[in-house]
Amino acid sequence: MRVNILGVTVDTYSMSETAEKIKLAVSAQRPIRVVTANPEIIYASQYNWALKNVINSADIITADGIGVVWAARQLGTQIEERVTGIDLVQSLFPIANAEKWRMYFLGGRPGIAEQAVKQVAEDYPGIVFHTSHGYFQPHEESGILKEICEFRPDVLLVGLGAPRQEFWLAEHPGLTFVGIGVGGSFDALAG
Ligand code: UDP
Repeated sequence: MRVNILGVTVDTYSMSETAEKIKLAVSAQRPIRVVTANPEIIYASQYNWALKNVINSADIITADGIGVVWAARQLGTQIEERVTGIDLVQSLFPIANAEKWRMYFLGGRPGIAEQAVKQVAEDYPGIVFHTSHGYFQPHEESGILKEICEFRPDVLLVGLGAPRQEFWLAEHPGLTFVGIGVGGSFDALAG
């Protein structure tokens, strides 16, 4: 079920339901794009038609923040809990580990995604990782796209900041089964 908040459609899925949908997409090899819709991006989309389109055309749009859960409730729709980018990523790791997923981390300052991988790999050795930092020049982008294609990730996490990461994923379909914009999650994982 979805709720329309200021023109942005948000899924009512809980964290475990969201993770389950993502697991199903990977096992079915069905490409999906995930947006975690926080109040900032919902607000920004009021003034940015292209952004609203990019969010609403995603396959999963999570309620990223208690404010979004609250707004849904005001509109008469119950959402069990918020589903933030970092929490979603954390809840995917055990699944990724068991399923031996290939995960690509794109974004963050140089060294951050590698550091994040080092931390995560200690607990989840079954996941195969690859990384690129998020401060590439326009002429370097084709090299990154090639690296992603060659790695063939099951899940591509893009932490370039919102809304750039949302546009980036929408503009580069076919790189992965699951693409998720994750903001500053690599910084959090790197510790
Ligand atoms: N970032 C990046 N390339 C850039 C600008 C930002 O990779 O050109 C990264 C930055 O290092 C940080 C993330 O994008 O890891 C943005 O985090 P923030 O928490 O500010 O974004 P939000 O969660 O608000 O989208």
